[in-house]
Amino acid sequence: MLRQRARVVEQFDNELRQLARDMVDTMHEADGIGLAAQQIGKTLSICVVDIPEKGDSDEEGNRLHPDVEMPLVLINPRVADSSEETSSYEEGCLSFPDITGPVIRPDDVTVNYQDLDGNEHTISAGFLLGRCMQHEIDHLNGVLFIDRMSHVKRVALGGKLKRLKKKTAGK
Ligand code: ZN
Repeated sequence: MLRQRARVVEQFDNELRQLARDMVDTMHEADGIGLAAQQIGKTLSICVVDIPEKGDSDEEGNRLHPDVEMPLVLINPRVADSSEETSSYEEGCLSFPDITGPVIRPDDVTVNYQDLDGNEHTISAGFLLGRCMQHEIDHLNGVLFIDRMSHVKRVALGGKLKRLKKKTAGK
């Protein structure tokens, strides 16, 4: 399921609203900051993000992206632009319990997406919000954070990944 590419959302109806609500609930229950539809067994292009205020503030406590309301529901999101500057950050994923590792990504991205009414929006973001959106949009394309880790790190995680694959086979 996690390897499947998401289908473009075309119907902005009550079913989509319900799915978004379910995804936000699932994300909160798991104490996550992001969730893509594939992670709950759906192949639709929708993901949700909720960065706590502390995770979106500078050292003085000022919000970095004050205009972005959380939780964020992104329908048909795509990365329109990304910075050349990159950095490494220790990422985790709700679909890979107990596994974290450094992932290199662009510092800043511009993401185009639609809201639950089908209206187009653009967010330019860096830091945790920018990174989380990239991680979730990757999910929608069937790309996982372990794919973006170094070969050395993947080899080091080999046993854990194999055990997880065995445990979740057929799910
Ligand atoms: Zn993930």
